[in-house]
Amino acid sequence: MNTKRLPGLLITGTDTEVGKTYVAARIAQALAAAGHRVGVYKPVASGLPAPGETHADGSACLSDPQVLWQAAGRPGELQRVCPQQFRAPLAPHLAAAAEGRQVDAELLRTGLDYWRQESEIVIVEGVGGLMSPISDEDYVADLASEFGFPLIVVAPNVLGVINQTLQTLITAATFRNGLDVAGIILNHPRSSNAAEDASLASNRLELERRCVPPVVAELKWGADQFDQEVDWFQLANHDDPS
Ligand SMILES: [Mg+2]
Repeated sequence: MNTKRLPGLLITGTDTEVGKTYVAARIAQALAAAGHRVGVYKPVASGLPAPGETHADGSACLSDPQVLWQAAGRPGELQRVCPQQFRAPLAPHLAAAAEGRQVDAELLRTGLDYWRQESEIVIVEGVGGLMSPISDEDYVADLASEFGFPLIVVAPNVLGVINQTLQTLITAATFRNGLDVAGIILNHPRSSNAAEDASLASNRLELERRCVPPVVAELKWGADQFDQEVDWFQLANHDDPS
């Protein structure tokens, strides 16, 4: 296995459907705009859009790997972004079983090697949360531990986010030798307002008070940029003493 040190970030979430892909795409886009050769990698994807599936406005539904690849400026080969894809909206090992297939645990790991060669920095999108099963044997946290990239935790600005985020941080701190968390991104995955969810106004401050990793940015509903500029390259080297 190629062990060349590659800076990277692994984007995980406090849960599924909190906006990991959208956040990962915005990070990849910002790095590409700053002139970096950005690799994007998703070890496995399930719940793919059906062929020809469209949004309400008629635009094509893109898979996570397509979204990531386009945001990064179409680096390398699209099929390398996610070498294993399954259609059913289930955990990957179950989605694979529904097609009479199996997740290739080795390929989850070696699929990253291509991007080690192609990139200055890689943005890896996890699947679900840290303890989401990713193969018959592995959890997302296993891959996170082996890849060694600092984590970005995507937390949705909804009631319950404090509990979800702290549980994710505790998991990161205690899994194997501990996983380094570079920061939290507070994402707005829906268009709700403070009249519908009063916690929207206090969640950021509460996270900042209670969590050790910083809230590095917030992504408002419908925004295509974070509310503040972040040096993603520096965060990717978070735990590198050199
Ligand atoms: Mg996703």
